[in-house]
Amino acid sequence: MMGKELEQLRNRVDEINLQLLSLINERAELVQEIGRVKETQGVYRYDPVRERAMLDLIKENNNGPFENSTIEHMFKEIFKAGLELQKDDHRKALLVSRKKKSENTIVDINGEQIGNGQPHLVFGPCAVESYEQVASVAEAVKAKGLKLLRGGAFKPRTSPYDFQGLGVEGLKILKRVADEYGLAVISEIVSPNDMETAVQYLDVIQIGARNMQNFELLKAAGQINKPVLLKRGMSATIEEFINAAEYIMAQGNGQIILCERGIRTYEKATRNTLDITAVPILKQETHLPVMVDVTHSTGRKDLLLPAAKAALAIGADGVMAEVHPDPAVALSDSAQQMDLNQFDQFMNALKLPSQIQV
Ligand code: PEP
Ligand code: MN
Repeated sequence: MMGKELEQLRNRVDEINLQLLSLINERAELVQEIGRVKETQGVYRYDPVRERAMLDLIKENNNGPFENSTIEHMFKEIFKAGLELQKDDHRKALLVSRKKKSENTIVDINGEQIGNGQPHLVFGPCAVESYEQVASVAEAVKAKGLKLLRGGAFKPRTSPYDFQGLGVEGLKILKRVADEYGLAVISEIVSPNDMETAVQYLDVIQIGARNMQNFELLKAAGQINKPVLLKRGMSATIEEFINAAEYIMAQGNGQIILCERGIRTYEKATRNTLDITAVPILKQETHLPVMVDVTHSTGRKDLLLPAAKAALAIGADGVMAEVHPDPAVALSDSAQQMDLNQFDQFMNALKLPSQIQV
């Protein structure tokens, strides 16, 4: 009876499949064990000499019907899978990764819950220039029911002859304005030495694009007890960006907001190229909130609104943009900052349902 014979053969194949499965997994366990031994000895995992010896032994004993080349191909796949297993064992999931923590991290800035599903907006001048200048933006920000103010006190500039910021004086201005208007302030710190001073004045420490891979600065930011807004480096891949955040979190500070601010490409129509899909990728790969800086990414006032809408539509937790009471006389980024009128129009056009107008 053909039917019966076929069934028996198939049953035998099933049995062998299960034997292969258990043998492959037994092999995997041994490979993992070897990986652990190698780790204690500080030996590199991939060992081509050993692989060659294993393949030779297998081929010497191959009596067919498979060709040696077919056998070699199949065993190479098994070797590769074993190596991957050792790697995974070794390289544990990053602390910032979704793999490590599936729930969204919410960064609390004086009650503003960044990452709670609502959009959060950060406005303020490129650089802190005077108390009056910051206060007039603060007034406009507060009038819109917003809570977050930005302003650079330490300005990393392309030319050493350009305005470098007011330094600690600038931090003091920010603190005074924050207290007077009930706002939280975000400002960039460029040196690990300034970190301790900065936390006395600021609510959020910004690490700028130029410093995304300043590892000592990242480590210093990881040791403070304040949220950090980390901007993507100008030429950083998403993987490098995520690893920069890992530097901060590895030191114990998990209050991190990622900020896409455009990357350098060959395109000259905008100051940088806003990598809008970085937002959902970062949201998938990490559990951290993600913001988009529409000013430095576009460098064009006519693109601030569409870029902000796109950012929120694609899932950003917030948007940052620069506002100056008189951009024409600004000491930095004069062309791309909104004046107060434009800020008003921007806010009206953005039409956030959750926006509390006071
Ligand atoms: C800034 O936000 O003030 C700034 C300098 O931006 P970036 O680091 O993204 O260039
Ligand atoms: Mn700027």
